[in-house]
Amino acid sequence: MAKINPFDSALKQLDQAAKLIDLDADTHDRLKMPMRELHVSVPVKMDDGSTKVYEGYRVQYDDSRGPTKGGLRFHPDTDINEVKALAFWMTFKCATVGIPYGGAKGGITINPKELSEGELERLSRSFIRQLGDFIGPEIDIPAPDVYTNPQIMGWMMDEFSQIHGKNCPAVITGKPLEIGGSEGRGYATAQGGVYCTINLAEKLGFGEGSTVAIQGFGNAGSYMAKILTEKGYKIIAVSDSKGGIMNVEGLDPAEVEKHKQGTGSVQGYAGAEDISNEELLELGCDILVPAALENVITEENAGNIKAKAVVELANGPTTPEADAIMVKNGIVVVPDILANAGGVTVSYFEWVQNLANYYWTEEEVLERLKPIMDKSFELTWANKEKYGCDMRTAAYVLATERIAAAMKARGM
Ligand code: GLU
Repeated sequence: MAKINPFDSALKQLDQAAKLIDLDADTHDRLKMPMRELHVSVPVKMDDGSTKVYEGYRVQYDDSRGPTKGGLRFHPDTDINEVKALAFWMTFKCATVGIPYGGAKGGITINPKELSEGELERLSRSFIRQLGDFIGPEIDIPAPDVYTNPQIMGWMMDEFSQIHGKNCPAVITGKPLEIGGSEGRGYATAQGGVYCTINLAEKLGFGEGSTVAIQGFGNAGSYMAKILTEKGYKIIAVSDSKGGIMNVEGLDPAEVEKHKQGTGSVQGYAGAEDISNEELLELGCDILVPAALENVITEENAGNIKAKAVVELANGPTTPEADAIMVKNGIVVVPDILANAGGVTVSYFEWVQNLANYYWTEEEVLERLKPIMDKSFELTWANKEKYGCDMRTAAYVLATERIAAAMKARGM
């Protein structure tokens, strides 16, 4: 099968909302093309003394609502179309939850697992030097994404600060706590997804004991498993890039994590049966949580999905063709631009704390995150009822109206 271009999918998602609200053609045209695409070479001095050059990207999609915001991904499959789609989704995500940012995303085509710690640090610093003054606290603010982490954000913040001769914590979010990170940022994506799940449970009559399958056991997926378990949900399957595990009686996420840390994969866990990632997606359960990469629910497997609801912690896990099949089958999908927006929302809090140089407690962070997620869920649900559409289109309607209003207020 030909590789699905996620940017084509993203534009189709916008088209559906644009049609519903009769979006004017000028605004629609502006939203079809990124404001700025940077394509850079990232030279790195390797441990053996040689220099390798990697390809890096940063796409700043739209800044009508504020400086652009979004993560940096280090992954062997990352390319410009993926980064464009991810930057597009960040734009609509920030608008869905009403935080004052546009959207961006960046990445390097690389498998970071093959680098030593020193090489990874030099790669991260080199990337920031190449991005230069195209980023900054009032311009574009990166953050972690797939296979990047707080330590990498720390090196990047330090490099930017050294270039500018002053401490610049607000240039990047998702930093370690010691240098201006926010309490709660580590699990914020999952926490936002949990607030959405609880809201959805009230609408659909789920609750304690409901079963959940999670594809992806990285930062988002593993915290989702832990927090949902605390809330009484039963995690019956999880997976990582090597494969998955299942136990209909429920898994203990903390134990699974220990096993993964020891062996490099969730597979082979004593209290469960090994399954494939494909099998996990098609399991009978109440809630399916894709928490890894794009294009995992496609027209090939959408008809086999047995979950009653899908909560998208990953960006872009569902293609438009798969969406149509799931709508027809009555599966409710909480879209990525709402379900995983807890991460960027706490990134926004981190940036605010950095600019104010005044830091909040974990309780204060959660007290501010919950109402934002609850309200965004309610507004999306209200649009779904108003337009008789699926939740993704409803969230796009909310976001598109906000972006269009900002463009208009600036005078386009
Ligand atoms: N990479 C995360 C996302 O896709 C977080 C972005 C951010 O915090 O800026 O939403």
